[in-house]
Amino acid sequence: MIYLLLKIATKMSGEMDKPLISRRLVDSDGSLAEASSEAPRVGILGTGDFARSLATRLVGSGFNVVVGSRNPKRVVGLFPSAAQVTFQAEAVSSPEVIFVAVFREHYSSLCGLSSQLSGKILVDVSNPTEQEHLQHRESNAEYLASLFPTCTVVKAFNVISAWTLQAGPRDGNRQVPICSDQPEAKRVVSELAHAMGFLPVDRGSLASAREVEAMPLHLLPSWKVPAILALGLFIFFYAYNFTRDVLQPYVREDKNKFYKLPLSMVNTTLPCVAYVLLSLVYLPGMLAAALQLWRGTKYRRFPDWLDHWLQHRKQIGLLSFFCAALHALYSVCLPVRISYRYDLVNLALQQVLSNKSHLWVEENVWRMEIYLSLGVLALGTLSLLAVTSLPSIANSLNWREFSFVQSTLGFVALVLSTLHTLTYGWTRAFEESRYKFYLPPTFTLTLLVPCVVILAKALLLLPCLSRRLSKIRRGWEKDSSVKFTLPMDHTLAQRTSHV
Ligand code: NAP
Repeated sequence: MIYLLLKIATKMSGEMDKPLISRRLVDSDGSLAEASSEAPRVGILGTGDFARSLATRLVGSGFNVVVGSRNPKRVVGLFPSAAQVTFQAEAVSSPEVIFVAVFREHYSSLCGLSSQLSGKILVDVSNPTEQEHLQHRESNAEYLASLFPTCTVVKAFNVISAWTLQAGPRDGNRQVPICSDQPEAKRVVSELAHAMGFLPVDRGSLASAREVEAMPLHLLPSWKVPAILALGLFIFFYAYNFTRDVLQPYVREDKNKFYKLPLSMVNTTLPCVAYVLLSLVYLPGMLAAALQLWRGTKYRRFPDWLDHWLQHRKQIGLLSFFCAALHALYSVCLPVRISYRYDLVNLALQQVLSNKSHLWVEENVWRMEIYLSLGVLALGTLSLLAVTSLPSIANSLNWREFSFVQSTLGFVALVLSTLHTLTYGWTRAFEESRYKFYLPPTFTLTLLVPCVVILAKALLLLPCLSRRLSKIRRGWEKDSSVKFTLPMDHTLAQRTSHV
């Protein structure tokens, strides 16, 4: 059996680029034809969504499949004709490898098959719900192993959905974590996964099954904190803008500007979030550098909060890009609004009534031109950062190219955004009428963190600090007695060392 699996696996691994369901196995009517009687036999217990997709993929990969059901007559029509659908006891009698495609709560109903299953490999594909995962300290696979002590249980395929099994493995979800206490059984299931076009990943003993079962429960774990941060900033700036631009005119001047809530307010809030988030990508690097300078060593761990912050920079940067892109889209939509047309007509009317020939203000025209151009440039640079953070692009760059884009161009984007904000604000920070309810204009608040980051970066570029930081990052320690000299061109060292 193992020999046959190996044979099929070797053959299949060389044909990974070909369609998984070979034409040889597809009947003229499009159904899957029977595999040769020599092909290894694989059993499946259960006839649900997962079992059906698994049977289809196994048949398409050249295996003989026998499916065990409590009521085979009812489900036989749902399986490819090449798969044999029979009663559970009959299905488990001949195959060496049997997939258990039933839920944990029904495992005990299979105990009647113990004697037929003795000595066989049981593949546990189950996934607990979040509640079940918290409730049971023992993984589903370990529970199955305790019910069938004479079998070898292998945890595998739980991260693969029925849909993926049917559609065929794709780049993102080809990995199949596999764990078992029996290396030989693990090898057999790995070869089987390989033959089906998946990438088996050894996750060690069955004790890891709990961890493997938790994998599909994760919902974008690395995005949780950045998303909460972005949402928190959005709520803060939206409330701030609402107080200044809607509430204040309503209370003080009896003007109803609530129509601004769905579009204008969102559009004035998004750039604030994007800009502050971008500065938060570079702030932890500054803090890490300051900490290293203060400690005089790189060999002491950063505090946990800083460590986490450093690890989330990519997600924070991508959220910043997302908000900036939305801001650009919203801005393009602004002239389409009816309120904008009313404003324009009112302005023209006022112009006629006040008998002014034209409203051209040179300073305003220039400010707007520069402001828009800087915004487009900042967004363009941010797009570059976002594109190079994609794994396929990042993998094609060497470390220096990657850090040039992410670090140097990232800072360029921050500086461009700062100039964009400053040209937007212009002299407004110094006009008393702009302080509504004594609150300063929003752009002055957003400038706070980015300006600290830019200032810190400028300080770190001072030769006395940058030389010391370079030495530290090349292993020098303040308290060490080892004499340390920097190479002549210490800027090169600086360029290749980044936090
Ligand atoms: P399902 O559609 O509900 O099928 C479960 C099957 O279990 C039934 O069709 C039934 O087949 C069989 N079964 C055996 N003993 C049973 C009993 N005492 N009571 C009720 N049913 C019994 O579930 P599924 O979506 O295929 O999932 C099956 C397993 O695969 C689960 O452990 C799940 O966590 C795992 N899984 C599913 C997916 C997915 O995308 N669906 C992905 C990864 C893992 P008979 O009536 O013919 O006996």
